[in-house]
This record gives sequence, structure tokens and C-alpha cells, in this order.
Amino acid sequence: MCQHGFMKRIVIAGVTGSIGTQAVEVLADNDEIAIVGMAAGAKARELFELATVAGVTELALASERFAEQVPDGVTLRVGAGSVEALIAELKPDLVLNAVVGYAGLSITRAALENGADLALANKESLVAAGHLVKELAADNGCEIIPVDSEHASLAQLLEGIPADEISNMTLTASGGPFRGWTAERMANVTVDEALNHPTWTMGGKISIDSATMMNKGLELIEAHHLFGVRYENLKVLVHPQSIVHALVELTDGMQMAHMGMPDMKAPIAWAVEGRTRRNIGVAPLDLGVIGSLTFEEPDLMAFPALPIVIEAGTRGGSAPAVLNAANEVAVTAFLQGRLGFGRIIPLVAVCLEQLQDMPGSTFDELDEADRAARALTAEAASAVEVST
Ligand code: MG
Repeated sequence: MCQHGFMKRIVIAGVTGSIGTQAVEVLADNDEIAIVGMAAGAKARELFELATVAGVTELALASERFAEQVPDGVTLRVGAGSVEALIAELKPDLVLNAVVGYAGLSITRAALENGADLALANKESLVAAGHLVKELAADNGCEIIPVDSEHASLAQLLEGIPADEISNMTLTASGGPFRGWTAERMANVTVDEALNHPTWTMGGKISIDSATMMNKGLELIEAHHLFGVRYENLKVLVHPQSIVHALVELTDGMQMAHMGMPDMKAPIAWAVEGRTRRNIGVAPLDLGVIGSLTFEEPDLMAFPALPIVIEAGTRGGSAPAVLNAANEVAVTAFLQGRLGFGRIIPLVAVCLEQLQDMPGSTFDELDEADRAARALTAEAASAVEVST
């Protein structure tokens, strides 16, 4: 919804992260979109630097603890709820939500409740609360545009194809740094090994999610909500080169693929610039140089995240929120050296099992499920630590 004349106004939440900074770069030479607000979690210095360079004066910082001097002319909102307040005050046309984790859900809600379209990089919003977020978007006449590369690819593939001609959708996965490994070999890998993603450069949480393949699981739930596709019609294919981002299988047996170099700038630009394309400096794909593209089925014995996610997604209600919260806590424990890599997914499975009966039909109920899952997983993670 563009209600402000010529310039489309965007707020970027999570601006200091990998997606946020790339979005600022992409928008630097776009004179049809003005960044009117920026928000960050705790990185005050980076926020102020980005805002100064881009000439943005309306800011929010979720953390209250920072030592840096607020730049002249800047209005800074601080603390819990400050990002949501920024959105409510500025009433932008578009919000890019590039916050990591469940914390992004309240920003998704603030965007939609204030009538803004949502460029969504925070997949956890859709994973935990997809059914309610979709409803909120419809009620407010807002669009949700995926920034996640596979989903941006699917959205582009699906343009112009009648729904009854689509049989399946496939998300590709690089397989992460431990593709081809057994569960035993992966059990005690280090944080550095797990962060070392072969094809994409990303933040810590999503890199670990890629190493466990939980990321692809979360993306299945994301796709289910974005495209209204049933889980039995969603497939995952491991594709180490990360050139084909997604495939759509048609009823005549043909498939369409969306391909390109693995560079997040492409889906970011497509999403924030209103589903349009231009040259933003992504290296052209030269298949002759790449030579071969390979594909394989995911190894569900070594990577049990996928079946666990499909079960939680199919169950619906609070299950995906519980799954997401347990995973966030387990990944943090791993990143802090408190939990073995091989314990992340089993811990998520235990949490899902134990919190089966929590309701999940309102945002409040999902918050409750999220809190319960965090507490349970934190407790279980520290018990594991004591016993080893
Ligand atoms: Mg992705």
C-alpha cells in the first residue's frame, strides 16, 4: 500500500544484521524508496553509523544498555516495545523485518496492525504464528513478501501459474557444513565448524540452523503458510552448490527452477523494491563455469530435524511455536558452549513431546507456549551439561 505519493517509506528492523545491512546497501541507490526508520537489538554503535550514513533520524534500540553518544538530530526510542512504537509512529508503507527469532513476531504484528506491507526475513514469525499472522495481514489488507531466498524464488516461480497446475514445491538445501556426515561424527563438532557454512554468509543462529537442517524445516512451515501448500506437497532436496533455490513441479510432469548465484541481495532487492528486478551487482550465473549441479535426498537419519518439523507443522496450534522456542534456546546453548551439537535436535523433540497440550489459537497463547518451551529447554540443556 503506497499512500504517501511518490516516495515509498520503509522501516528496517534488525538493520545491523546481515540482511539489514545488505538492504541498506541495496536501497542506497534507489530514489523511489526512502528509509525513514531503523531499529536494532543491542548494537548501538552500528545502528548510529548506518543511520548517519543513510541520513535516517528516527531510530529504535531494543536494549537499554549502551554507552554511545546519540548522534545530533536523531530521535532514539529505547527499550522493549521501542521498535513497535517506531512503526506505529512512522506508519511506513513497508517494514523489512530482519530480526532473528521469536522476538521478531511482535514487529511483524506491529507492521501489519499499522497497515504496512511486510518484507519478511524473520521466518520465525511465520513458523510460530503463521495462521494468526496470515489472518492479521488479510484483515489489514497487507501483503507479506518473503525475503528468504527459497521463498522469494518460489513466489517468483508461482507468478502467473494457475494453482490447479501446480503439484509440488521443492525447497533446496545446501546441506550445510556437515553434509554427508553421520550423526556420530557430528555429535561433538565445535561452534566454529558449525558456523562455517559452505555457500551462504549468514548470522550465527541461521548458520547453526543450516548445520542441523532445522533451517530447512522452519522454511517448510514458512512455505506452508506463505503459499497455502500442504506438507505432503512440499519437498526438500539437498543441492550443495546453492544455485537452484527452489523448484515448482507442474501437473504435466515438468518442473520450473529459479536459479542464481547464492547472494541474498537478489531476494532482498526483489522483496523491498515491490517485486521488481534490476541490476544490483549480483554476479551473473555462468553455468558453463559452474559445470555441474548435483542433487540428493536429505539424510533423515543424520538430520532428524525435518521429520520433527513436519510433525509439528502438521499438528499445528502451539506445536510450531514450541518447536521454534526450543530450537532457539538449544542453539543459543550450543553457541555458548553449553550444549553438544548432537543434542540440539533431540532436545527440541523432547520439548515438543512434553508440551503437546498447550493451546495455540491466540497470540497470547502462543506467547505462553513460547515461554514454557524456553523454560523447559533451558532446564533440560543445563541438566545435560551437569550429566556430561
Ligand atoms: Mg533460506
